[in-house]
Amino acid sequence: MNIHEYQAKALFEKYGVAVPKGAAARSAAEFESALASLPDGAVIVKSQIHAGGRGKGTFTDGFKGGVKFAKTKADALEYAGKMFNNTLVTIQTGPAGRKVQTIYFTQASDIKKEYYLAILLDRNTSKPVIVASTEGGVDIETVAHNTPEKIFKIVIDPAYGIADFQVRELIQKLGLNPAESKNAAKLLKGLYTFFWETDAAMVEVNPLITTPDDKVLALDAKVSFDSNALYRHPEIVALRDLNEEDPKEIEASKYGLSYIALDGNIACLVNGAGLAMSTMDIIGHFGGTPANFLDVGGGASKDQVVAAFKIILGDKNVKGILVNIFGGIMDCNVIATGIVEAVKEVGLKLPLVVRLEGNNVAAGKATLAASGLALVSGDTMADAAQKIVKLVA
Ligand code: GDP
Ligand code: MG
Repeated sequence: MNIHEYQAKALFEKYGVAVPKGAAARSAAEFESALASLPDGAVIVKSQIHAGGRGKGTFTDGFKGGVKFAKTKADALEYAGKMFNNTLVTIQTGPAGRKVQTIYFTQASDIKKEYYLAILLDRNTSKPVIVASTEGGVDIETVAHNTPEKIFKIVIDPAYGIADFQVRELIQKLGLNPAESKNAAKLLKGLYTFFWETDAAMVEVNPLITTPDDKVLALDAKVSFDSNALYRHPEIVALRDLNEEDPKEIEASKYGLSYIALDGNIACLVNGAGLAMSTMDIIGHFGGTPANFLDVGGGASKDQVVAAFKIILGDKNVKGILVNIFGGIMDCNVIATGIVEAVKEVGLKLPLVVRLEGNNVAAGKATLAASGLALVSGDTMADAAQKIVKLVA
């Protein structure tokens, strides 16, 4: 789960991570009061969307820059008006862009130097890793490609936490002066504690800056949390912004379904993530493209299957459906009953191929046959995949 920059920075402050003073506005009516809460002088106007690259982004009406430097509050008000409710396209949003529904105003900082700092989970060592660079503010992938020696990594022992010698090593590699070092040490420890205690999956500060008076500030903040741990962080779940999510994925999560929208035209309804991936692979193998990844899980109920079908049929790009179920815990007849019920409720004008195998499969096939639905049955995964690819072609 992702949150906005302004929300991340509010959490940072609780952990002693220094950020510029800021105020968010969720409607145009709030712009003036948000600006009034900041000191006089230059202001940065920041579009809040769950994607990076905003500074270099362009709005669909041609307005340039999702992050703007405003010399005065009057300028800030004007920029905010241009960004709000406008659609921002960045390298991370895809061509459709994202509608800006919150504006964050921050006091402009004087930048001495920009750095890069991130904490994430390293899957190779199964440990948190801090990634830092003296080349901040720019696209870190470019730095990694052109000058990999300018990126440092420090692996943290999760049982011990961040050690003082590791903080010193990082500060030394970043080349900070003594006053900056003291501030950076506080920030690093705070940021690591934040990462650890909130079950974050990734925290990225790009840029981290130093100022002429030796302050060290998180100027940007991109944070995502491990969805599997959200049950123990209701205060973080409360920060979820449904405007930023695919409505179909929201609907799926209400029913405990794992749904990921993809670009193709064959919808896949499967049970288990492994089966989902092999189903997508086999569709690809026979020349088709999956429209989604929909996993009803190991013990789905009839209601979940109905919900899954409705979500699939709500996607305009879907030209055919492949149901591929292996009944281990799952009773094939529950799936079959769910399919029949869903089709009765929402109708079915698309080709549907069903491959059922395993627990109670005979009853499941009998339910489908008795329903009189115009569906095609597949005997094996390969057979089912070939049939659906042919039907949507
Ligand atoms: P991003 O483009 O989505 O990564 O958004 P950022 O928050 O990183 O802002 C983009 C760029 O604007 C930063 O990399 C900075 O160079 C610049 N910027 C942001 N805030 C300030 C500020 O307070 N002062 C100055 N001088 N530049 C800023
Ligand atoms: Mg940035």
